[in-house]
Amino acid sequence: MNSATKPFCGVTVLVKYVRIRVRRALSRSGLPDLDYALNPYLGCEHGCVYCYARCYVGKSIADRWGEVVLIKENIAEVLRRELLAMKPGVVGVGTISDAYQPVEEREFLARRCIETLVKHGYRVSVQTKSDLVLRDVDLLKHVRVDVGLTVTFIDDSMARRFEPRASPPSRRIEALRALRRKGVENLWIFYGPVIPGINDDDETFSELLRLAKELRAVLYIDPLHPKRFMFEKGVLVKEAKAVRTQSFLKRIEYMFKKCREVGVVCKQGFVGDAYEEGVAKHIRNLNSYAGSGGASACSGSS
Ligand code: SF4
Repeated sequence: MNSATKPFCGVTVLVKYVRIRVRRALSRSGLPDLDYALNPYLGCEHGCVYCYARCYVGKSIADRWGEVVLIKENIAEVLRRELLAMKPGVVGVGTISDAYQPVEEREFLARRCIETLVKHGYRVSVQTKSDLVLRDVDLLKHVRVDVGLTVTFIDDSMARRFEPRASPPSRRIEALRALRRKGVENLWIFYGPVIPGINDDDETFSELLRLAKELRAVLYIDPLHPKRFMFEKGVLVKEAKAVRTQSFLKRIEYMFKKCREVGVVCKQGFVGDAYEEGVAKHIRNLNSYAGSGGASACSGSS
């Protein structure tokens, strides 16, 4: 076990790292287009305030989200054994914690797992908010790998309030350009969560659309999936404007229309239900959570 101090919104916090040994490396994934999920770490130093991954981990990590990281120190060896008995499929790397969060710089677990998966004929889909991903460009340009960078804000200072220890968006955008320059073919941009009244503005969307066009990248659009905890500490409640379901639905429809007009492939994010129904449900939850108490921290739409 060891720890490190990291800047957190201008305040120093202690990140506690705990080494654990696991018996399984892959789990079945319920996410669209993925067969399996692989997370070398549990808990995420990036500490995004809206991150609902905390709803899928133990209470001790969830209650100190961003400050406790479990390192699955034997995951690469377990994976190698496990693959011998599995049916090949698509593996999402970093589905409930960023596989390229700062600790990966010294642990190399994501790298070793991706290497093994590719070698065994699996397809790999990496999603991250870190420009550390550039370190592994030699692996990531493999034809069976796709890489997505989440870009939620364009403005670095705005991002710092919501995603305090992730790479600033300016560096993520540079990383996307560098990945393309260095030969990564399968690139995507994840615009999510789109938070009504906060980052669904024209400037943010237009910039991401331009970037997707420039890089020939797929643009995923994923509205916020509201959960009670997001409003408990005043993180979003002070920010999100009261949103009428129809106006936000129209806003999302408009984004897809613009994508078609400029010839960018845009896809739905992880809404779950039929897209429109899903967005409407999220907004109903958003309005009710912003207004009153009563539900548990993780209740809300998935
Ligand atoms: S980078 Fe992803 S997993 Fe990590 S805290 Fe942010 S949203 Fe959660």
